[in-house]
Amino acid sequence: PNGRERLDWERALSFLDRERALYTERNPRSAVLAAQAAVHLLLGVPLHWMRDWGTPFPLHVAHASGAHVVDADGHTLVDFCLGDTGAMFGHSPPPVQNALQHQAGQGYTTMLPTEDAAVVAKALSEQFSLPCWQFALSATDANRYIVRWIRAATGRKKLLVFNGCYHGTIEDVFVDLVQGQAVQRDSLLGQVHDLLEHTAVVEFNDLAALEAALRAGDVACVLAEPAMTNIGMVLPAPGFWRAAQALVRRYGALLVMDETHTISTGVGGYCQVHGIEPDALVLGKPVGGGVPCAVYGMSAELAGHAVRAKADAPPGHSGIGTTLTGNMLSMAAMRATLTEVMTPAAYAHMLPLAHELAEGIRDLLAERRLPWCVTELGARVEFQFCPVPPRNGSEAGARLDAEPEHLIHLGLLNRGVLITPFHNMMLVCPQTTAEDVQRLLAALAAVLDEVVVEAS
Ligand code: PMP
Repeated sequence: PNGRERLDWERALSFLDRERALYTERNPRSAVLAAQAAVHLLLGVPLHWMRDWGTPFPLHVAHASGAHVVDADGHTLVDFCLGDTGAMFGHSPPPVQNALQHQAGQGYTTMLPTEDAAVVAKALSEQFSLPCWQFALSATDANRYIVRWIRAATGRKKLLVFNGCYHGTIEDVFVDLVQGQAVQRDSLLGQVHDLLEHTAVVEFNDLAALEAALRAGDVACVLAEPAMTNIGMVLPAPGFWRAAQALVRRYGALLVMDETHTISTGVGGYCQVHGIEPDALVLGKPVGGGVPCAVYGMSAELAGHAVRAKADAPPGHSGIGTTLTGNMLSMAAMRATLTEVMTPAAYAHMLPLAHELAEGIRDLLAERRLPWCVTELGARVEFQFCPVPPRNGSEAGARLDAEPEHLIHLGLLNRGVLITPFHNMMLVCPQTTAEDVQRLLAALAAVLDEVVVEAS
C-alpha cells in the first residue's frame, strides 16, 4: 500500500483546485513578475527546475535570511527546502556575509590563490580526514572532475553507481536498472553518447550484485551517496558499507562518496559519523554557505597517482576545471563556512530539532492511519509513501507519487511553509526554531485533514 487508499481523491482534487485559486489570489506580485520573466526566459525561469514547485506560476522571492524566505508579495515563509541543501546552514549566514562584504572590494577572480587557499584546504582535511583537495563551482563538476582524475590515475574506465542515484548533471551516472536491465535514463535531454558503455549500475544494499559488477576488475570507482537521498531516502543496511568497502578494495576499485546531501548527518558528514574511509569525497551546495562552489578531496595514494597522470600527459587542456574555479569570492565564502558556520554547535541545534520534526510527523501520520514512513539523516527528514523504508532505488522510486506530493507541497506553501519540491524532504538549519517546526506540523495536519478519508 502507498496510502492512496487512505486519501479521498475527490475531496483531494477539489482541495487542489481551491489551493491553486488561493495561491493565485495570495501572490499577485509574483504573478506580475512571472509574466515579465516569461518574455525572455526559456520556460519563464532562470533554471527550468524552478517550475517543479507545482504552483500555478513561479513564486518570486524578495529576500531570504536564516530559516525564512520573504516572497515578492510580502509573506514570510518558513523554509525547510533551504535551496535543496544549498542553504542548509541558513540563508546568508553572518560569517559568510562578513567574508563576502570584506572580499567585495578586493577582487573576485584572478586565477591566482589568496591566503584563503591553504586555510580552506587545512580545514577540509581536518574535517573530512582526506589530505589533498581541489575545487569546482558545483557538486556536479566536483563529481565530474574526481571521476576524471580517477580514470586518468588508474587507467580503468568503468564507473559503478547505484540505481536511482543522482550526482548532478555529470553525464556518466544517468543509467538506471529497469527490470534488472541497465538502460540510459530516458529523461536525459540531448545526450548522444552511449552511457552504458562505461557505467555499470546495481541496486543499493545489494552486496552480491556489487561484487558481481566489480569482479571483472575493470571498475575505476564506485560513486555513491553514503545514503541515497535523491529518489526518496534509502539508508544503508547495517554493515552494508563496511562490507561494500571491503569488496571495492578487494577488486582494486576506489570508493568516492558524494556527501553533498548527507553532510546533514553530523559534523564531517556521514562518513565521519559512521567511520567510513572513502578514497575520495565530494561536497558541493552548502560548502560556501550558498555561494557557488564545491570541493573534492582524495587520499594521499590517489593524489600521488593523479599528480603522476598529469605529469605524464602531454601539455594542453586537461578537461578538468573551469576558469572561475577556486575564485577569490568562493574561497572566502568557504573559509567562513568551514571555520565558523558548519560547526559542532550548529549541528547540536539542528539534529535534535530535526528529530523533533520527524517524531511530530510520525504522530500526525499515525493519528490519521496513513501508512507512510519517516526517515531521518541528521538534519534531513523525509516522509515517504510506504509503510516501511525502501531498501533500494527501485523500491524508493516505485513509491514516488507526484499527485499527492504536489498537493501537499502547494497546501503547505499556502500555509506559509516551503518544503523541497522534489519528494517530501525537509531540512532544519541552525536558525530554525521549535516554533517553525510547530508551524510545519500544524500546516501538514491541516492539509492532510483536507484529503484523508474521513472516519465513518
Ligand atoms: N550530488 C548530490 C548527492 C546531489 O544531490 C546533487 C544535487 N541535488 C548534486 C551532486 C549536484 O549538485 P549541483 O546541482 O549543485 O551541481
